[in-house]
Amino acid sequence: FQELLVTVILAVGLYIMMTYWQMPLASILVLAMLVSKLLKQLGKVQERYQEMVIAESAYWSIKDTIAAMNLEREPLTGSRSAELKRAIYLKNVDFAYDDHKALQNVSLTFPAGQITAIVGPSGSGKTTIVDLVTGLLRPQRGEIRVDNESLEQVNLKSWRRKIGYIPQDTILLHDSVLNNITLGDPELGAKDAEDALRSAGAWEFVSRMPAGLQSVVGERGGKLSGGQRQRIAIARAIVQKPELLILDEATSALDPQSEAAVCETLQNLRGRLTIVAISHQEALVKIADKAYHVQDGKIVTTEDRSGDGFPNRNSDAEPVGKPRLAISPEKAL
Ligand code: ADP
Ligand code: MG
Repeated sequence: FQELLVTVILAVGLYIMMTYWQMPLASILVLAMLVSKLLKQLGKVQERYQEMVIAESAYWSIKDTIAAMNLEREPLTGSRSAELKRAIYLKNVDFAYDDHKALQNVSLTFPAGQITAIVGPSGSGKTTIVDLVTGLLRPQRGEIRVDNESLEQVNLKSWRRKIGYIPQDTILLHDSVLNNITLGDPELGAKDAEDALRSAGAWEFVSRMPAGLQSVVGERGGKLSGGQRQRIAIARAIVQKPELLILDEATSALDPQSEAAVCETLQNLRGRLTIVAISHQEALVKIADKAYHVQDGKIVTTEDRSGDGFPNRNSDAEPVGKPRLAISPEKAL
């Protein structure tokens, strides 16, 4: 359209200059050249302006998003490092989402090296408890401590680096088992992945796959069973050598057999890691050293089996002793 317009203007100009003004053809040609150049430049300016108008709304919306994100920036104030040697303690914790009370006067202890289960119906506040432990949420009242260190004073970034988190639905990528475990971390190799898989009780089936660690798991891990996927997820979490392993309903979507396999995996990790397992099923309670039943944001009952039959784990205040291991420590994490 623009080129057409330029042509029309030139033609009309030529006509006027030749017929009415009777200018010499030489001057007209020079003028015509100059005008056409000028119009082309104007066209370019117009194009740039259009591009700018198109991009403008996106620009403002990105600016707004960045401003909104900055407002929500997590205040990382703590500088102390958390050492999980004895336990994580929640003392008289209250937490509310706006005006919805999610937790009321909750006191819990997650002893180091043990398996603690949190059981309760949907919406009872289980995820809120672990979000408090990972420092994603801050309690309105009460205190959270890792050993003697209050979480308020702890550098949350370094604390979270010690935590492995396994969600209910694991997303496996359409890639090899190895890549699904290391997630591209250049510091992790096949040996680390193998160790993690062994600890997660997944090495047996992975090594039986045609290409071993290099076997592709299929779209969303479709070539694996639910229990196998979850054990790969456990390997993915423990390959980073966390001190605390959190499973948020990680077995809820599994059939009883797969759930039993995952439970066995957790039992083998006992003593090496601190495990917090959330579930609305009872299977996890059976293997736990300690179980808290949550209802409507309150702890209703506590079962504690850590006293009987499990040496080194009979007191919250005692440091973790030598782990009871079926596997040697070198093979472990
Ligand atoms: P659970 O994990 O036991 O199913 P949650 O800890 O996720 O329960 O939630 C506890 C309660 O807090 C529920 O009633 C839920 O509706 C509410 N809740 C959870 N997250 C939020 C949120 N971001 N904003 C408002 N309410 C929330
Ligand atoms: Mg939840």
